[in-house]
Amino acid sequence: MLPVSRPSIGSEELEEVKKVFDTGWLGLGSTVFEFENAVKEYLGAKNVIAVNTGTTALHIAFDAFGITEGDEVIVPSLTFCASIQVITALRAIPVFCEVDPDTLNIDINDLRKRITPRIKAIMPIHYCGNACDMDSLLDIGKKHSILIIEDAAHAFGSSYKGKKIGSFGDVTCFSFDPIKNITCGEGGAVVLSDDDIAEEIRRKRILGIDKDTWHRYQNKKSWFYEVTTQGYRYHMSNINAAIGLAQLKKISVFIEKKRKIVATYNEAFRYLKGIKILNWNRDETVPFTYMIRVLDGRRGEMMDFLNEKGVGTGVHYIPNHLQPFFKPFSTPLPITEQVYEEILTLPLYYDMTENDIDLVIQSIIAFF
Ligand SMILES: *Cc1c(COP(=O)(O)O)cnc(C)c1O
Repeated sequence: MLPVSRPSIGSEELEEVKKVFDTGWLGLGSTVFEFENAVKEYLGAKNVIAVNTGTTALHIAFDAFGITEGDEVIVPSLTFCASIQVITALRAIPVFCEVDPDTLNIDINDLRKRITPRIKAIMPIHYCGNACDMDSLLDIGKKHSILIIEDAAHAFGSSYKGKKIGSFGDVTCFSFDPIKNITCGEGGAVVLSDDDIAEEIRRKRILGIDKDTWHRYQNKKSWFYEVTTQGYRYHMSNINAAIGLAQLKKISVFIEKKRKIVATYNEAFRYLKGIKILNWNRDETVPFTYMIRVLDGRRGEMMDFLNEKGVGTGVHYIPNHLQPFFKPFSTPLPITEQVYEEILTLPLYYDMTENDIDLVIQSIIAFF
């Protein structure tokens, strides 16, 4: 069975991890700083703080920007539940909004209708790696003093109008979990230009301690530390950073291959009446996953058919306003609910063979 996604890892990653083993320093240390610098350079970003997951990147960023109990955050319902859990973890309130069915990105017109003085932040998700309308979002943010915090878990390497996601905007959070564009095993990063808040996030990621353990051991009074803010144990480890360093070196080949697969899919599916392909900016998107919309209520039928052919599929994601835990914040979202019935994720990963790609295409053609 072809999986929907799979990491591409090998001897290069093991080699980098071995270097960390040889130093005997597994936790937060020089490999993490090296990874942060490499990401900084790749993105053209000012501050990069590496943490242990994409979820904690979002949590720590919201916290450092002062989002707190009772604050409201506009977020599309159609996203991974992690986006919403970080809002409710801070006792803030998710205000669910619609997505554009052609891109699955935040619907700017619907979002405008939901702005009130209680809204403190907007969280756009760059769906499948395709950037949201950042000009409009940042304009809205500026006009209403609303923080734009990008959930860029899908979009590492993608650009918007020639600028890498993370190199502009208020604050951008990436994920390096096993299936994301590059992986650290598990990992994440907060990327932002504000130096003071970046320092606050650096303290918060390691229990609010003003200098991390590694730096402390460089000093003579190595036992001394000060806790200056609410913190968490969210830092990245050298082991995870080592994997990320090896992955970052391969990112351009990952991108090239995944773009080629997407182009092949699009070409094959373009004229099929029963499905819709998403409308991406092809030159600037690093494709994270590949999704289609199956029309005429046939999504379930197609899933079963592909399953029989050995093609794994998924539904990303179940709208969060329909989840039991988020019911208190639920509101009718007819477009999202319709799209949820249609979306189908197909296999897309670096190590797919020509035969794998062909199996996916031929199976879908056979279905119709
Ligand atoms: C993967 C993902 C996250 C969370 O990242 P983790 O590293 O898995 O914690 C958040 N939002 C979206 C949209 C994601 O796909």
